[in-house]
Amino acid sequence: MAQCPQCAHSPLVHTMLTEGLAAYSCGKCLGTLVSLVAYRAWRDRSGSEALTASPLAEPDTDPADSTGAKNCPKCRSLMSKYRISAEKSNRLDYCAHCEEIWLDDGEWQLVESLVTSGDFTKVFTQAWQYSVRSSVNQQMEEQRLRELLGNDYARIEEFAEWLATQPGKQEILARLSRRPRAPN
Ligand SMILES: [Zn+2]
Ligand SMILES: [Zn+2]
Repeated sequence: MAQCPQCAHSPLVHTMLTEGLAAYSCGKCLGTLVSLVAYRAWRDRSGSEALTASPLAEPDTDPADSTGAKNCPKCRSLMSKYRISAEKSNRLDYCAHCEEIWLDDGEWQLVESLVTSGDFTKVFTQAWQYSVRSSVNQQMEEQRLRELLGNDYARIEEFAEWLATQPGKQEILARLSRRPRAPN
């Protein structure tokens, strides 16, 4: 029997993640091992019905994300970490070889809307991870600017909105980036 990648010597037991989708979970840390192969099969079987499921309300607090490296319960190789979104810092552990995903306790609720919409498999693609990273970078840049400008930050946003409507946008930007002449 496969062991929990998080707890020492805790066997994973058969469980139902949702109707018709089987998985394995650890009774100790309540983490779950989900097979992407089983997920795809479940999606194919449930067809368009699953697509109409409404996304769940977000949990009030973010579930704790276990940060340590994990070994795949099946093949023992190191699992890779995949961030779900720019808004959530949780990262899922994934073994590309076995196509097995490890969800920490509570992370299932975070991904349930992706699971029902069919986007769940996309999380484990380069494109998804690239887009998460660029959103995170953009948010960090905005945060830095906010801290730098304080209340004046609102003026930037107002200006950006106005600029977007201007046909001479490029000329305005060029004028703004021109260095001021040094005073004599
Ligand atoms: Zn465990
Ligand atoms: Zn594996």
